[in-house]
Amino acid sequence: MKIVDIKLHLSEIPLSIPYPSTWNPGNPETKLFISMVEVITDDGIHGYAAACDSSQLLAGIWDSHIKPLVIGKEITQIEEISTGLINAAQYAYRPWIVEIAIWDCLGKYCDLPIYKLLGGAKARVLAYASTGSLKSTEERIEDMERFISEGFTMMKLRAHHDDPWEDLKVIEKVIEAANGRIKFGVDANQAWFFTGKKSVAKWDLKKAIRFAHELEDLGVIWLEEPLHQFDYEGLAELRASTSVSIAGGEINSHMHQFRDFIKYGCYDIYNTDPTFVGGFHVARKVTALIEAENKLLAPHTWTHGFGLAASLQLAASTDCCPFIEYCYDPPAWEYTQRDVMLTEPIRVDSDGYITMSQKPGLGVDPNMELIDRYSVLKL
Ligand SMILES: [Mg+2]
Repeated sequence: MKIVDIKLHLSEIPLSIPYPSTWNPGNPETKLFISMVEVITDDGIHGYAAACDSSQLLAGIWDSHIKPLVIGKEITQIEEISTGLINAAQYAYRPWIVEIAIWDCLGKYCDLPIYKLLGGAKARVLAYASTGSLKSTEERIEDMERFISEGFTMMKLRAHHDDPWEDLKVIEKVIEAANGRIKFGVDANQAWFFTGKKSVAKWDLKKAIRFAHELEDLGVIWLEEPLHQFDYEGLAELRASTSVSIAGGEINSHMHQFRDFIKYGCYDIYNTDPTFVGGFHVARKVTALIEAENKLLAPHTWTHGFGLAASLQLAASTDCCPFIEYCYDPPAWEYTQRDVMLTEPIRVDSDGYITMSQKPGLGVDPNMELIDRYSVLKL
């Protein structure tokens, strides 16, 4: 059970259609960035995990910080490795895939999926169809009909026009056309801003409160990332002023940020993502904080198939998770494109649920041929 080697595979897989995401306005995404860690144990187990960035920073500390931290350790020394990674994150952000790949080894060693190692609360998780771009009302109504016909019972729209009342017009029309057949969340992507080609108007507290009140009348279940990720007081005031659930925390890391969210009362729904927060070990500690406050977990998954696989294991391990994000915005963001680095895509059943894979570990396998074909760096 000792770790004898650890490898980093960086790949850039071209997207067949550029994707105009709301979090990167004016700069459509043209590639899937895969940074995959492979952990090898002395009994021949290979564990994998991958993040959605090119992780050149992680490559920079691979020999100096990552290899010395894990090689020679038992795969059960998670607490020690997790603490080491929190320190390593001072030099390279989000090294958490190292810890997640070790959990994949642990699951394979025990012949159990990770969610069962963590407690195994449920065998399937309700998924909502998450769109990530701005489209016309007509196109979004078509998408909504498609989601309903495929079994989804929930979907998420984005609000990211310069004028949020433009967003509201689309949201109103789509909800009206749905006529109660599907439930809605809205994501404003105000927690951080890509300082790229096009800036988008930032919301302040007054705008967020007005928008939330409009959503109340439309029966929207949650409003996600309505304010900056560290505007603790603003988020708390917004949450206290509306009956719409406020969601966020997807890009936040470490226990302390979540402790502060809870202290201030920022969110009803936490979008904790194991690949962003600090791996499974930290994600489980954060989940305990959320559960103790009687709040909900609905993990973020807008990374790719490997990230979805990790978030699913967390979601299925606890009763405080009612649903999970399923990133799906055809034709550009098909689930087959999202999961192209896996040997099989993660599918939603005809009743809107993802049934948990009973394969050990993360429950997915890397498509090594594709990852090698588009490799930009191997360490
Ligand atoms: Mg989000």
